[in-house]
Amino acid sequence: MATSDLTRVGHWVDNKAFPGNGGRVAEVTNPATGAVTREVALADAADSRTVIEAAATAFPAWRDTSLAKRVAIVFRFRELLNQRKDELAEIITNEHGKVLSDALGEVTRGQEVVEFACGIPHLLKGGFSENASTEVDVHSARQPLGVVGIIAPFNFPAMVPMWFFPIAIAAGNTVVLKPSEKDPSAALWLAELWAEAGLPAGVFNVLQGDKVAVDELLSHRSVKAVSFVGSTPIAQYVYATGTANGKRVQALGGAKNHAVVLPDADLDLAADAMVNAGFGSAGERCMAISAVVAVGAVADELVEKIAERARGIRTGDGTRGCDMGPLVTAAHRDRVASYIDRAEQDGASLVVDGRRVGADGGPDGFWLGPTLIDHVTTDMSCYRDEIFGPVLSVLRADSYDEALELINTNPYGNGTAIFTNDGGAARRFQNEVEVGMVGINVPIPVPMAYYSFGGWKSSLFGDTHAHGTEGVHFFTRGKVVTSRWRAPSQGGLNLGFPQTA
Ligand code: NAD
Repeated sequence: MATSDLTRVGHWVDNKAFPGNGGRVAEVTNPATGAVTREVALADAADSRTVIEAAATAFPAWRDTSLAKRVAIVFRFRELLNQRKDELAEIITNEHGKVLSDALGEVTRGQEVVEFACGIPHLLKGGFSENASTEVDVHSARQPLGVVGIIAPFNFPAMVPMWFFPIAIAAGNTVVLKPSEKDPSAALWLAELWAEAGLPAGVFNVLQGDKVAVDELLSHRSVKAVSFVGSTPIAQYVYATGTANGKRVQALGGAKNHAVVLPDADLDLAADAMVNAGFGSAGERCMAISAVVAVGAVADELVEKIAERARGIRTGDGTRGCDMGPLVTAAHRDRVASYIDRAEQDGASLVVDGRRVGADGGPDGFWLGPTLIDHVTTDMSCYRDEIFGPVLSVLRADSYDEALELINTNPYGNGTAIFTNDGGAARRFQNEVEVGMVGINVPIPVPMAYYSFGGWKSSLFGDTHAHGTEGVHFFTRGKVVTSRWRAPSQGGLNLGFPQTA
C-alpha cells in the first residue's frame, strides 16, 4: 500500500481532530503481522504551537471551574473508560503488540489513577490557622500551574499518560499529550472519550510527533511543567532542557531491574515470578525483571525451573490468546537479538534461545521468543545495557551482601525484588537497597495509584515521582495567604519586619 493511502493519525485540539500542516509522517505497524497499518503526523513547530496555544487559551476558564464540576467530568470519564476499555485494549494490541489481557491490565492500572483523581477536592485542601497573630489568619492553597506537557513512551500508550493527565486535569491544568510515534492511536481514543465525558475544548489535547514537538513543549513559554517517560538519555535531555527553560520537569528514565533469590526462597514461586516479570509484555516494561541474582547453591535448580517454564510460553499474535506478543518494531527486535548474539560471543550460556521461536502469528511479525542466559557477568553488554526485550540474564552471587552490592552499584534504580522466606533478610533489603520501588516476593512492585511511582539514580531526573500525593504536588503550586480584617481606625505605621503578637 502506498503510504499516502494509509489512514492518517493526526493531532487533537479544541475537542476536534487536527490534521496539522507539517508534511512529515511516520509509519505505524502492527507488530504481529509486520504490516504498515497507518501513518502518524509528525508536528512541525507551527503545529505544536497551535496545540499548545489552544491549551493556554482554555486554562483560565478551566482553572476557575468549580471543583465539583471538574470532578463530575473526571468521574464520567472513569465510567466511560470502564465501560469501553476493551476497545482501547484492542487498539493497544494492534499497535504495540502486547497480548490483549495485558493491554486490558494496562488500562485498568491507568483507570486506578483516574479513580484517585476523583478524590482531588480532598487532596487540594489546604491548612487554616485562625488567629496566627492577633486578628490575623493564615491559610494555604494549592493552585494549578497552567499548560502541562506529557511525553510518553511506546510501551504503555494508555497507562503512562494516565499516570499524569487525570491528576493534572482534576487539579485545574490543561494538558498537551505527546504520545510515542510508534503507537499513537490510544491517545486519540482517550481524547475522544474526554470530549464525550464533557471536558471543555482545549483542556486535553494531543500533539503527535517526535523531537520537534518535544522541543516546542520544552521551550514554549505557556508550558509550565513537563512529565516525561522514556529512555534515560532522552530523559536527561528533557530534564536539562526543560529546567534550563524554567519549567518544572519530572523525567522518568530507563531501568535494569534485579531480582535476588536467596537460598531459602520457594523456588517454584520465584521461577514463576521470574518468567512473569521477565517475559510479560515481551520484556518491554520499565519494571520488567531483566537480571536474576541467584545467591548460593540455588542457581542451577532455579535456572532449570525458569527454563522449563520459559519453554512452555506461547509466543504469537496478541489477539489469539497467546502468552507473549511480538516486539514493537523490526528494528527493536533486531537490536534485542543482537544482545543475545553478543552474550553468546562473550561466553555466557544460552539456556533458552528466543531467536528461533515458532510464533503463532504472521510470518513477517517482529518475533523473538523468551530467552534465558546463564553465567552472565557484570562486564557483559547484556547486563550493562537496558535491553527492553524478553531476555532474562542470570548472575550468580555467593552472598546476600554481594547481591546487594551488585544492585547498588548499577546506575539504574527503578525497581527490584527479593525472594526469600527470611523476614529479617527481606527487612534488611528494603532498607539497604538503593532503588525506588521494592518488591518482597512480588516481582513487579508497581505502586498503587495512591502511592507514587518513581525510580532512583538514572531512572528518574527531578524531585517528584508520578501519581499519588507527589503527583498532586507536581501539578500544583503552593500559596500561603495571611489576612487581617479589622476596622480601618485600628491601623498605624510600623516599618519593622512583621512579628507575631
Ligand atoms: P524513547 O526515549 O525512545 O521515547 C520516549 C519519548 O521521547 C517518545 O514520545 C519519543 O517520541 C520522544 N523522543 C524520542 N527521541 C527523542 C529525542 N531525540 N528528543 C526528544 N524526544 C524524543 O523511549 P521508548 O523507546 O518510547 O520507551 C522505552 C523506554 O522508556 C525504556 O527505556 C523504558 O525503560 C522507559 N520507560 C520508563 C518508565 C519509568 O517509569 N521509568 C516507564 C515506561 C518506559
